[in-house]
Amino acid sequence: MEIYVSKFGGSSLADAEQFKKVKEIITADSRRIFIVPSAPGKRFKDDTKVTDMLYSAYDALSKGKDYDFSVIENRYRSIISELGLKVDLEQDFAHIKNCFIAKAGRDFAASRGEYLNGKLLSEYLGFEFVDAAEVVFFKADGSFDEETTYSVMGERLKNSKGAVIPGFYGAMPNDTIRTFSRGGSDITGSIVARAVNATLCENWTDVDGFLMADPRIIDDPKPIDVITYRELRELSYMGATVLHEDAIFPVRSAGIPINIRNTNHPSAKGTMIVPFPKADHIPGAITGIAGKKGFAEIIIEKGMMNQELGFGRRILWAFEKNGVSFEHLPSGIDTMSVIVDEKAFDAKKEKILADIDELTSPDNVFVQYGLALIAVVGRGMVKAKGTANKIFRAVFESGVNVKMIDQGSSELNIIIGVDSEDFEKAMRGIYKAVMN
Ligand code: ASP
Repeated sequence: MEIYVSKFGGSSLADAEQFKKVKEIITADSRRIFIVPSAPGKRFKDDTKVTDMLYSAYDALSKGKDYDFSVIENRYRSIISELGLKVDLEQDFAHIKNCFIAKAGRDFAASRGEYLNGKLLSEYLGFEFVDAAEVVFFKADGSFDEETTYSVMGERLKNSKGAVIPGFYGAMPNDTIRTFSRGGSDITGSIVARAVNATLCENWTDVDGFLMADPRIIDDPKPIDVITYRELRELSYMGATVLHEDAIFPVRSAGIPINIRNTNHPSAKGTMIVPFPKADHIPGAITGIAGKKGFAEIIIEKGMMNQELGFGRRILWAFEKNGVSFEHLPSGIDTMSVIVDEKAFDAKKEKILADIDELTSPDNVFVQYGLALIAVVGRGMVKAKGTANKIFRAVFESGVNVKMIDQGSSELNIIIGVDSEDFEKAMRGIYKAVMN
């Protein structure tokens, strides 16, 4: 039997109208058995997400200050009344407020958004409600407890004909509540998919899927229909967001695809994230382009560096001992460059440079700030001859100077470093070139 786990984001469940769309989607396909809701999100641009209100409420009430809790309660009350539900959350509201005053913890506070929404949705769908605190577990050090979760959740959901499991939180060994990081309902969706060995993990949001480039920079970029987990990692690392980064891991190793879908446009197929594309799927040369500003490049020069055993290790040690991790390492025969996060480096600059000096006695060290990195990612690049040529020609024709090139050994991506000021210009040039 095919099983779908369907996670719905905050904007998909922001009000009664959105709940109706969600129900229609779920009832349209009987494979949608396990539903993971977020807390009610924004109904309009300047609206406040329930999760954010809960954090504010907790910060006030736990410090003995006032907070008008009814603004949160009313979000749920209006959904209940507009959908004609019978569920009564009044006792929950009172209990939650008391727990805030008694300092039950910020994670507990934030988790109540999903908890209450899950209760509403389960009644609306006629599905059972399974509290995430009974099936998602963390270890004492705060890390996710895979083993216990998959076995308890798998057993609990084994014979279920339909269940709503709120996203974003689980239980600590001492029974307190812990949440994943923000946007973490995506992670719960993937965990449930893995625990029930789902055929598909759906992730319903408010966009048609991943786009080939950031629409704030590129006009009307094309949507991506199929992307591999590896490509997605490369693009999300460079700032492309739709899905929480940690949502990949539970399903990736189990070979379960994720389908990003749009609750407001359910006829769109969305983006399918797969471990391996089907044999008959022919990718374009490029799957997507993403980029980020805010990097610094530290260039270390030393004659005959290539013959000095341990040189690279000592350079990296200078960064490691100061708690700065490196992002890329393009190197030549007598030069080595370390690309790092600008802010992290700047905070430790003097110390790192002194350590490099002491550990490696270089001839010269240069620091360049204001570097932007652009990752051009595509599994089709290996087969498509001339892609690199197109990309660099486009950068050149945009009047942009390339400061660094790093081609991953997998031939899955080419990373180009440019001045932050040239970032948008270069992105537009590359996108246009690879689309033609
Ligand atoms: N409600 C949580 C947040 O706003 C988790 C989620 O929506 O995924 O971050």
